[in-house]
Amino acid sequence: MKGHICHWTRGKSMGGSSAVNYMVYMRGNKADYDGWAAAGNSGWSYREVLPYFKKAENNRNLEVYDKKYHSEGGPLNVERFPYIDNNVLMLVQAFRDRGLPVTDFNGENQLGTDIAQSTSLHGKRLSVNAAYIRPIRHIRSNLKIITKAYVTKIIINPITKAAVGVEYIKDGALLTAYASKEVISSAGAINSPKLLMLSGVGPTEHLTKQNITVLSNLSVGHNLQDHVTTNALLIALTNKTAVDGPQLLNNIYEYYKQPPHKNGSLASTSTLNAVAFINTNLSKQDLPDIQFHFDGRNIEELYADPPSSIASNIFPLGYYTGLSVKPLLLVPKSRGYIMLNHTDPVYGPPLIYPRFFTEREDLEVLISGIKYATTLEDTPAFIENGAYFVKVPISGCESFNWGTNEYFSCLLTHYTTTIFHPAGTCKMGPSSDTEAVVDARLRVYGVNKLRVVDCSIMPQIIRGNLNAPTIMIAEKAADLLKEEYC
Ligand SMILES: Cc1cc2nc3c(=O)[nH]c(=O)nc-3n(C[C@H](O)[C@H](O)[C@H](O)COP(=O)(O)OP(=O)(O)OC[C@H]3O[C@@H](n4cnc5c(N)ncnc54)[C@H](O)[C@@H]3O)c2cc1C
Repeated sequence: MKGHICHWTRGKSMGGSSAVNYMVYMRGNKADYDGWAAAGNSGWSYREVLPYFKKAENNRNLEVYDKKYHSEGGPLNVERFPYIDNNVLMLVQAFRDRGLPVTDFNGENQLGTDIAQSTSLHGKRLSVNAAYIRPIRHIRSNLKIITKAYVTKIIINPITKAAVGVEYIKDGALLTAYASKEVISSAGAINSPKLLMLSGVGPTEHLTKQNITVLSNLSVGHNLQDHVTTNALLIALTNKTAVDGPQLLNNIYEYYKQPPHKNGSLASTSTLNAVAFINTNLSKQDLPDIQFHFDGRNIEELYADPPSSIASNIFPLGYYTGLSVKPLLLVPKSRGYIMLNHTDPVYGPPLIYPRFFTEREDLEVLISGIKYATTLEDTPAFIENGAYFVKVPISGCESFNWGTNEYFSCLLTHYTTTIFHPAGTCKMGPSSDTEAVVDARLRVYGVNKLRVVDCSIMPQIIRGNLNAPTIMIAEKAADLLKEEYC
């Protein structure tokens, strides 16, 4: 990556990554869940998971969306942001000019374009903590929350092979919490495998090297997938549509003037809401293989150093003079893995090997997606607004001509990034699957009374953003538990 680093951001507060994410509400494709079921995961077909998406949802735009797919009354508020800026409209129009239909990505047909919905309430973020925990915190007597606690190990009885509790550190003290029924790990796709491995559940070879007694030899940490992309494909905007900082005071006033309703550009993630799903000429089915997102940033900084401009940006997303176009690889073939940190397995970050582009086809699909994106420049929407692709080769890729496959290949391999969707590291699968870590009821193989409930259980990453699918997984897990204990 030519000296750059690829950030693997995670949310570490209550609500996890939903407390820091882009709030895009996306469920994935029907075929994703049917694929999970076809791989031997009974109960996970689209028909069977749709009720859980709907159960979670309180959709505030039901006048626009089909009730077959959407509902209201759930804890998770889903809405269009109250503020939509001109570039969102320009981008959606450009895809329409290219012939894409306007669609509900979470409805009958995912292929198309539109303004995405968000997990927010009146223009303000609604994390899973705000949606699910806050309303019952200090009210339900069977809910005890310990914050600022760092779980170091799941305690598993070596004789009965049953998980009985967890060890955790709080205020420098090593403490334990015991489970009367079972333990559930929801530490996410990076830390659930780490915790399992620290507890003796994982690949024998790796754990033995760490001097950890193996209680169940499973492919924990394998099957790592993410939606890989680049942050160095840039669009410049003219004064006509660029949005810069001086409006900040007005925008703060707008945001607060009519509580609880937020408005103005601070009540939005701006161009991230302009979304399109396409299938490139390499897609073998009538299913999307690329999703587009657009990150607004200062174009000079973006051009000078895309990775750090995006990582260090302190302005709200509503202020930008240029865009980083992100074609996301929806169905990666490459698989990575996660291992414990050799020098500090407990507190050190785990070793993450994404192994992006180890399958050549992944690169080719993305190049095809980029080439599609560049044709937006010829649409009436772009021409009217003067938006154009920055065609000056970026540092490290100067030896290639902008627009060629070689140039785009250089962008993708030197300015690689993701939109923070790691998944699959505690794979759900039937017992015949050597890579499977949990069964279709999310129980860890070879250990009693231990489940994993988070996006690490996805056998194959879904075509879309991961927050709503993770919430669906949790809703379904709640029913599995009720079936067993109530
Ligand atoms: C910057 C960013 C932008 C994103 N944008 C979107 C988006 O717009 N739309 C979308 O759908 N998805 C988005 N995602 C992805 C989505 O938010 C995540 O996939 C989803 O939240 C994953 O949920 P999870 O429960 O599996 O894991 P997480 O949300 O990561 O939750 C794991 C939790 O476990 C806790 N934890 C971990 N280890 C320990 C330990 N040892 N002890 C105690 N606690 C521990 C963490 O603190 C955290 O609270 C984004 C993610 C990021 C980071």
